Amino acid sequence: MLLLNWRLRPWINRLKVSLEIMASTDPLTQLLNRRAFQEVMDRVYAYAKRTGKPFSLILLDLDRFKMLNDNYGHDIGDKMLFGISVVSKQILRTSDWLCRWGGEEFLAVLPDTDEMGALKISERIRKAIENFSIQLNTQKIKTSVSIGIASYPRDGDTPDFLIRAADAALYEAKKAGRNCVVIARNKRKIYSIAAKLNIAIETHKLLPAYQVIVDLKTRKPVAEKSLARLIDESGNVIAASDFMLAAMELQLTHLIDYHIIKQSIVHCAVNKVDGINELAYFVNISADLLLHQDLIQELFSEAQTACTSCEADTGFFTPLVLEITERQLFGDAHAVKAKLAPFIDLGMRLAIDDFGSGYSSFQYLADLPISFLKIEGNLINRVKDKRIRKIVKRISDIAKDLELTSIAGFVEDADTADILCELGIDWAQGYFFGHPVLVQNNGIAVTTSTF
Ligand code: GH3
Ligand code: MG
Ligand code: MG
Repeated sequence: MLLLNWRLRPWINRLKVSLEIMASTDPLTQLLNRRAFQEVMDRVYAYAKRTGKPFSLILLDLDRFKMLNDNYGHDIGDKMLFGISVVSKQILRTSDWLCRWGGEEFLAVLPDTDEMGALKISERIRKAIENFSIQLNTQKIKTSVSIGIASYPRDGDTPDFLIRAADAALYEAKKAGRNCVVIARNKRKIYSIAAKLNIAIETHKLLPAYQVIVDLKTRKPVAEKSLARLIDESGNVIAASDFMLAAMELQLTHLIDYHIIKQSIVHCAVNKVDGINELAYFVNISADLLLHQDLIQELFSEAQTACTSCEADTGFFTPLVLEITERQLFGDAHAVKAKLAPFIDLGMRLAIDDFGSGYSSFQYLADLPISFLKIEGNLINRVKDKRIRKIVKRISDIAKDLELTSIAGFVEDADTADILCELGIDWAQGYFFGHPVLVQNNGIAVTTSTF
């Protein structure tokens, strides 16, 4: 028994090693499989965290590989996958690790390498794969690869987060036309803005600034537009343009709209009750907000209460005007109408913002009960140009034919205001008539000099 055991031991050991290898490698390419790679990545990550050194992940995905399989068969596809694994390994350094991440995807981890180092290596891999071919009879079969790069600590604090960042970069590479390398976009700035936004919401420091809208003939105020402003912890006023992109990327616009509309409803009601004015109040409403029916419902209740408290004789219309922008994809006009129906029934009117910047506005004009048409700011900026003037005139005529009020934003000087008046534009908003005014929680009005 002892003798048998002694004779079998080398064979058992070899079997154990083979089983371990089988459990950790991909049978087609002999590269590490996903599970084994996770362990390697955890080790590289722990080392980087301990030493403060960077490391990079590069995620490779073969381009239109399904087509190659469909055209030449799976055996050729398999040969290609094997060939690509050999080519990539030859370019990577001995300290780097490569794995078969899934179907036609490979993932490499490059210790002690920042994004620029990873970019150089990725470019070399991309070119080598572009030049690689396998022979089928007289034909040379070729492929290409798209690559996404993410680096620690620049693009994320954990391997999971870095993989997601590399995947997003890979998606960008595919969108850019394939056969290219893209470095993950540094999102730290976006996250820091989002953090400020969250704090501002919690501490009631996301506030509307009101900018006057005047009648171009009488030059008297007829409305106000609410613009979002964020007061950071140091008391700095941050304009919407500086946090809106981050908010859009992180899908937080519904929160901004919700808080600004809510405060604007109160502002409007207070002014009505005090009999201060008969202005209309314009607020932005985003496609993102329409997806949040709970918030829409809350705003509707808020508006109902305000209308009751006002008891003002506003006639058929309430003063609040909801602005939808054609820059955003609101989707089907009938669905938008259904979601806004309670507000419309309450007497709120609709405006299209940035009219002339996209291609959906005519559809909205046809299918939504629009009352105001705000012309794209870029056209107003250039209205001194003869061609642009003709375009603005046509928009003004459409508004007149449809009995809509036309509004020009971004009016910054007297000449522009006069030209717009000649073209028949009804109302205007812009620095020439007044900067946005922020009413802080302490009741002090502060003029803000940015949009
Ligand atoms: P894209 O450029 O967008 O990445 O297009 P694609 O065709 O490469 O991507 P898609 O995800 O549509 O298809 C991946 C293809 O990879 C489909 C699948 O048949 C093939 N594939 C996955 N694993 C293997 C494999 O082990 N062998 C072979 N021959 N093909 C594989
Ligand atoms: Mg794929
Ligand atoms: Mg692919």
